[in-house]
Amino acid sequence: MHRAFALLGLLVAVCFASFTLAPFPGLSGLWGAYAASGALLPAATWSFFSRFFGREHELVRQTRAFWTLSVLGVGVYLVVDPLLPAAEAGGSAPDVLLGIATLAAFLATFQRLRREHERAETHVQRVRIRSLGALLLLATAITALEQLVRTLGPVGPAPGAGLLQRALSAQGSLPPMGALLGSLFIYVLHLVVQLYRLVDVNELLARLFVLLSGALLIVGTQGVFLGLAGDLRAHPLHGAFQLLLAALAFLAVQGPLTAALERIAGDLLNRPGRRLLLAMRDVDGGLPRAISLEQLSDQLLSPLVASGRVRLASLYLWDQGQGSYRLHQSRGSVTRPLLWAVGPSVFVDALRTAGGGLQRSPGQGEEGADLAAVRTLDAMDADLCLPFRSGALVLGWLNLKAELGSEGFSREERRQLRALVGRASVMLQNIHSFRAMEEQQRLAALGTMAAGLAHEIRNPLAGIKGAAQYLQSGADDVDPAELRDFLGVIVAETDRLANVVTQFLDYSRPYVIHAEELDPGALVRAVVELRAQGGLPPGVSLRAELSGPLPPLRADADKLRQVLLNLINNGIDASRGGGPVVVRARAVQIDRSGEEAAPQVELSVEDSGAGVPEAEAARLFTPFFTTKPHGTGLGLAISRRLIEAHGGELRLRSFGGPGACFQALLPVRPADHRAEEAVQGGESP
Ligand code: ADP
Repeated sequence: MHRAFALLGLLVAVCFASFTLAPFPGLSGLWGAYAASGALLPAATWSFFSRFFGREHELVRQTRAFWTLSVLGVGVYLVVDPLLPAAEAGGSAPDVLLGIATLAAFLATFQRLRREHERAETHVQRVRIRSLGALLLLATAITALEQLVRTLGPVGPAPGAGLLQRALSAQGSLPPMGALLGSLFIYVLHLVVQLYRLVDVNELLARLFVLLSGALLIVGTQGVFLGLAGDLRAHPLHGAFQLLLAALAFLAVQGPLTAALERIAGDLLNRPGRRLLLAMRDVDGGLPRAISLEQLSDQLLSPLVASGRVRLASLYLWDQGQGSYRLHQSRGSVTRPLLWAVGPSVFVDALRTAGGGLQRSPGQGEEGADLAAVRTLDAMDADLCLPFRSGALVLGWLNLKAELGSEGFSREERRQLRALVGRASVMLQNIHSFRAMEEQQRLAALGTMAAGLAHEIRNPLAGIKGAAQYLQSGADDVDPAELRDFLGVIVAETDRLANVVTQFLDYSRPYVIHAEELDPGALVRAVVELRAQGGLPPGVSLRAELSGPLPPLRADADKLRQVLLNLINNGIDASRGGGPVVVRARAVQIDRSGEEAAPQVELSVEDSGAGVPEAEAARLFTPFFTTKPHGTGLGLAISRRLIEAHGGELRLRSFGGPGACFQALLPVRPADHRAEEAVQGGESP
């Protein structure tokens, strides 16, 4: 395509240059070059289009025929024209014939563009082809009209005319509109080559605005300085100095001014594209600061949606525990529940092979994606899906839905977004390695735990051994009451041992969540009842408070029970002095920054204890942190892991007292919108 454009540009340059130079004495031979290059222009334009639309293989015969005819016509013209006597006025007969043939060839090229218009798949593409066609038609028609005026008008300058008169007589009485439009057409094609896509009218106007303003600025600064220079011819050195000053002044303001002009042009003429560009800059600024998945998704999604160009953005990430890609976060107007998990599937294969991501509207980027993949895009409500890749692995993807009334994203927007997602992939990999490091730290902490565990085991063992030895030594005449006491010690210490071992195992093994649909209210009530039946310390009460209707949760009931019991037991431990422990459940749809977010269920346990000192708050969830004589310090660490395995969050809401409140936030996931391929379990991506 670059070669085709270079040829076209060369022909245009030869055509314009020979047209301008031919009237000068001794250069009249250039009229032949003018006519020849002009007549070859349609064929060169045709070749360019067939390459740009990727039809060069389809149209080999037509292109060859077009070129052969054009070259033949030009050859005949170059041989025949000089043989005929010079015309009295206007052009010669071969001139006119060649002109008509060129016009016809341009019409054929225009026809080619029309066919592309019919074949175009999207509305956006059609609009762009239409504007390109209109420009081509206008440039051709105006040039033809100018030629007609010149042909009918007087030919050549009066003998002895000056340079200016010669030039003016060649140009005709009309301003050179055809040349101007022709240049504009070439400029548009230049942008097409540079951007590898058809240019949007708005974008073109924005660029022309910047270009023209720059040109006017040059003329303006030079005008001012030349005005100050007075009569140049009288003081050439002074004049040259003024010109130098003008050039310096222009260069000094050019940079910031061009940036300002681009901004104004963008604001006036290409708003959506500009907004998205600015949002991408925001994302780029924020990405390096993201050290967790939450921050990464927030830095990525929020600015894109805030730009208004993206109506809905969602992020799916590989979840090793579940063996599927999970909906991690979504921003924007969610009009229907989104697919929440996608297993390793046809869709992921398509994503892996499609270089430029997948698009919902038919067209580029969709090759290789079969119907199932398109259905998945639909279920995720996405126009464009861009994968995060690490080598051949797909770590996840970013889904974007374009603003209302626009048909997807332009090729340039897609290119920029792809680059952005590429950069985000690197961040994602960093976070993954960071997580791996955390995991290593967890394992290292388990090593420390082994020491603590040995200690925890040795104490009860010593108690058991002591009791058993005592019973053994006085086996014959043990007082039944004493026997009961010692057996009680053995049972209690064995329980303590079993508890330590269970908790240790709980913390160290990876969690498998068996999700089922459950009613969070019923779960809370059942746990509270169960715990109350187990007996409460004097003065301590336990109750459940459920507010409003609660959406069903997809969660592992056993695991949630375990978390609630942990939190309740801690609350009871903390409220030894008496007071209520309250377990609450409510639906929330607001995130931490006060913005509307995906629906969640909040389970909280509030006690009447002394609260958590601020200095301790940061260490609460660290494994083995305990302030209790018989505590293991694993309860909260395990609870947090269990809630996170559900895609939720466990945090301490208030510290410093009075009373502590622990909150578990669990995402509500629709059970009935899982596509056929959304599965749990499976191999890695
Ligand atoms: P354990 O209960 O075995 O100590 P946890 O991980 O459950 O282990 O708790 C760790 C520590 O957090 C406790 O030892 C206690 O100091 C503090 N803690 C937990 N819950 C509360 C609460 N409701 N009020 C005050 N402190 C608490």
